Amino acid sequence: MNFTIQNVLIATVDDYATVDVQVVDGAIAAIAPTLDVIGTTINGENKLLLPGFFNAHTHSPEMWQRGIIPPFPLELWLAQLYDFAPLDTEKVYLSALGTAVETLLSGGTSVVDHLILIPGKELETIATAVRAYKEVGIRAFVSPLIQDESITAGIPSGETTALTHKPYFRSTQATLELIEEAVKQFHRPDEGVGILVAPTGIQLCSDALFQGCIELSDKYNLCRHSHLLETKAQEKLAQEKYGCSAVEHLGRIGYLGDRTSLAHCIHLSDTDITILAETKSTVVHNPLSNLRLGSGIAPILKYRQAGVNVSFGCDGASSNDSQDLLEAIKIGSILHNITDFDYQHWITPRQSVEMASLGGAKGLNMADTLGSLTVGKKADLVMYDLTSLSLLPRTDPIGLLILGRPTNAVESVWVNGKQIVADGKVTTINVDDLRQQLFEHSQWDTKRKSETVAQLEAHYRTVMDLL
Ligand SMILES: [Zn+2]
Repeated sequence: MNFTIQNVLIATVDDYATVDVQVVDGAIAAIAPTLDVIGTTINGENKLLLPGFFNAHTHSPEMWQRGIIPPFPLELWLAQLYDFAPLDTEKVYLSALGTAVETLLSGGTSVVDHLILIPGKELETIATAVRAYKEVGIRAFVSPLIQDESITAGIPSGETTALTHKPYFRSTQATLELIEEAVKQFHRPDEGVGILVAPTGIQLCSDALFQGCIELSDKYNLCRHSHLLETKAQEKLAQEKYGCSAVEHLGRIGYLGDRTSLAHCIHLSDTDITILAETKSTVVHNPLSNLRLGSGIAPILKYRQAGVNVSFGCDGASSNDSQDLLEAIKIGSILHNITDFDYQHWITPRQSVEMASLGGAKGLNMADTLGSLTVGKKADLVMYDLTSLSLLPRTDPIGLLILGRPTNAVESVWVNGKQIVADGKVTTINVDDLRQQLFEHSQWDTKRKSETVAQLEAHYRTVMDLL
């Protein structure tokens, strides 16, 4: 599957150049103005070639509830999500396909799927998502979402009221054994599918679970992935639980590090930010979800100034309610202009591209092999059609791509040197068939009510001072 892209535009340090790019055995073999053709010739004229982006945090099964959950903060939103998530593996399969397709067609070549597991069918859920991602050919970092406390434990108890929590249905030890089994069966990074340890976050996980994940991560060289301080409630909860911030606690138990990526990171102090920088942890910014759930604005400019690596995620499709990575990158970049009057701190379109590609690779400990157009790196490439209506008239290609509203702009995608999008269409699966299946497995639904929300809402409002 060797090929040579001819006359394609690439970004140089502060300009553009028209070059040929040779790809041999899945890796970028040469980039230069004129190269011999090796393998198939690809016409790159009037096209922009960029490294593939990372959709660095999502939950694929949430696709089944996109557009339906009312405007709630995270804790109530979650209660509703789980009340209506009796998923079957067929649905897991279809939503993983859908997540992969939408990610690819918005510039992504990698997806971190913090995968919600069907109780009692955990390994099957993981196997199903892995199968879907392999079929599409996107690079997948499957991160089985685990916890060992029941959902109500994620809400602070406050001073006067206290909730009693049911024990979680599966023991910590059984959960860890499950993850180890998943690693043995499915962790094949060389084949484009890796498993991460992914305790959901301090709000629903014991230290024993975090410790067990650290041990697995060390034993099998796995990356670590969690939510961190997404809401004010979680900030309060950390104080109740540990008497210090969640970041300090996770640092103390050894969870942070250069293989650890943390979704959201909204309610952090300056001291917390220093800890993230010192431990070389990665922040995954999910701006649309943060807006949708009213969680807050992550201090991304501060992270960048402190030297913390930042990448972008869509987050699950029921808190977004899409999987358009270019949209997340745009909002996630310009959102911060309102947080800092000094425009010299604002994120430029070229910086956004770097965060979405190299930043994503760093957060998964793969910056040596992914994330930039560099000879020797794996050919995870996206080629954009600069004659697409949304990228015209001709000005600055990267400015158009990041600040504009690109539609049908992705022309070709390669992962590991294998072409999986051509002429703007996914070539590995039948997307019309996927549309039909998504349609048939769902129905218009506007009247549902969540019992758990009804139980929790009064307590939530009291403890969060909303009365
Ligand atoms: Zn999430």
